[in-house]
Amino acid sequence: MSDCLFCKIIAGDIPSKKVYEDDEYLAFWDIAPKAPVHILLIPKKHVTSLYHLDDSNVSVVQGMMSKAPEIAKLMELNDGFRAVVNTGDGGGQEVGHIHFHILGDVRKATWSGFPLQDN
Ligand code: 5GP
Ligand code: ZN
Repeated sequence: MSDCLFCKIIAGDIPSKKVYEDDEYLAFWDIAPKAPVHILLIPKKHVTSLYHLDDSNVSVVQGMMSKAPEIAKLMELNDGFRAVVNTGDGGGQEVGHIHFHILGDVRKATWSGFPLQDN
């Protein structure tokens, strides 16, 4: 999608600090980390949110479930991580390209997600 921020990151039109890439997925640092490790995992295929799953995209989104722990291990989060998927306005989603937030060392996090905060 030409007007999608994360599609522009996938295309390389906007720079990002990549930590993982394959044919289907990209993972990169959040520009404003809310925890000591804060990675965004996205599918290269544009899917707006969990409310936009259909037969054409559900498998790639399901694949994110196993990709998330791979990324967490890559980031050496061996004692665990938090995955967050904000969905729609009511879920606090700001970028309309589905993404998993992968957060590590969450005891030092500045964002719990409950309630939404500016930081
Ligand atoms: P959402 O609120 O949609 O769940 O999360 C969007 C996330 O994208 C936010 O945590 C925000 O900091 C991050 N973000 C917004 N713009 C950019 C950007 O240009 N580059 C990167 N790496 N992250 C971004
Ligand atoms: Zn997109």
